[in-house]
Amino acid sequence: MKWKIEDTPEKTEFRQKFRAWLASNLKDGWLEAIDSANDEAFAKVSEGFDFFGWMTTIGKSGYGAPMWPKEYGGMSGEQWMVQLVREELERYRLPLFGINLLGVGLAGPTIIAHGTDQQKELYLAKILSGEEIWCQLFSEPGSGSDLSSLSTRAIKDGDEWVVNGQKVWTTIAQFAKFGMLLARTDLDLPKHDGLTYFILDMKSPGVEVKPLKQMSGGAEFNEVFFTDVRIPDANRVGAINQGWECARTTLMNERMTLSGISLDISSITGGSKKDPWGSFIGSISDTSDPIARQKIAQFYIEQECKEITTFRANSARARGEQPGAEGGVNKVFNAEFNQRKTNFLINAAGMGAIAWQEGDRQAESRAHAFLRARAATIEGGTSEVLRNQMAERILGLPRDVEVDRGIPWNQIRRN
Ligand SMILES: Cc1cc2nc3c(=O)[nH]c(=O)nc-3n(C[C@H](O)[C@H](O)[C@H](O)COP(=O)(O)OP(=O)(O)OC[C@H]3O[C@@H](n4cnc5c(N)ncnc54)[C@H](O)[C@@H]3O)c2cc1C
Repeated sequence: MKWKIEDTPEKTEFRQKFRAWLASNLKDGWLEAIDSANDEAFAKVSEGFDFFGWMTTIGKSGYGAPMWPKEYGGMSGEQWMVQLVREELERYRLPLFGINLLGVGLAGPTIIAHGTDQQKELYLAKILSGEEIWCQLFSEPGSGSDLSSLSTRAIKDGDEWVVNGQKVWTTIAQFAKFGMLLARTDLDLPKHDGLTYFILDMKSPGVEVKPLKQMSGGAEFNEVFFTDVRIPDANRVGAINQGWECARTTLMNERMTLSGISLDISSITGGSKKDPWGSFIGSISDTSDPIARQKIAQFYIEQECKEITTFRANSARARGEQPGAEGGVNKVFNAEFNQRKTNFLINAAGMGAIAWQEGDRQAESRAHAFLRARAATIEGGTSEVLRNQMAERILGLPRDVEVDRGIPWNQIRRN
């Protein structure tokens, strides 16, 4: 990587400690195989890697959530530590926080900020160890970008709440033990004001999870239906009708969790990390085609711009400043850049993009990356909505039209 800030002595020490920890918790030779760019040795040492075991090991070490307070299993650290851990995990080809990304990245910080002592005691340790997987029950068929308009109802009945409604797009709900649920508890208040945040045990009677099969082959997300689901009041996070405040904490952490994740060149082509552009170019059948050559050069320019923007954001963090517009800019740019690159590779592969010999890793990665890249401009906030936010908050353009501001939810027109 060309654009790199030199580590401060504090960071050098943290990085060295983490590397030493990695060396003693991975198979012998793992780090050396990467450091010497020996793909063959790496394939051997990483064979049969225990993904779930790894999740528990890193989760219990504190490195899984450096920003969490020490008393809850973190390191009471700073944002740069998260960044540094990510850099090292990426360098050594280890999964970024594993399957419990939503638990560690979203639910944990929300419970730490708004939960009761009992909730912290009950849930945080098992989120970090990966024993209890979490999902995010926010989006609904009629409420995605306009999340606060959601309709799932929760009605108080003694010490319990009774929930009816439907969520959609719920990633990993089929494996989750708990869900962060946002439900409407007062119909007479404006849309942001009548919401309450709950912790839902996904095995409660009346919860039905239906996986949605995607075009990429997997079923990453689900529809979730609630019929008279009972939630104890002890599972309420924050005050009644103050759920939007807790949801904002979850959403802010979602943006931070997702902002560092993007498809790199080698994961799109299934090629070597040692020479990602070499693999990219190598996967194109006719590099003498003038249009293909121009496109490749353009991708290279854009990749450089992206790295410089990331570099600027990291430099700001290193100086202790809050990064400015780079988060939103990077999210929109990465999502669309990935789509352009994968579109190009599919076109360049011709018939090879449609049919291939079983076991052709390059062709499989190319097709999967092409299909998966469609979701990137939707998940974690659509590109249109993020552009609106940038227009308003960064460029000072007039606010987007809001016809329902201040109006009671039950008087708003909905589909
Ligand atoms: C892979 C994936 C995983 C997801 N996982 C989860 C999850 O685990 N939990 C969860 O709760 N949600 C999840 N989501 C849902 C995601 O947050 C929503 O899809 C997203 O917020 C958009 O909402 P929507 O799909 O209802 O689209 P809509 O909000 O209906 O938008 C439809 C179109 O209209 C545009 N649009 C909407 N409002 C405006 C506006 N004001 N100005 C201009 N254009 C506008 C949008 O950009 C979009 O193109 C996931 C989504 C994806 C793709």
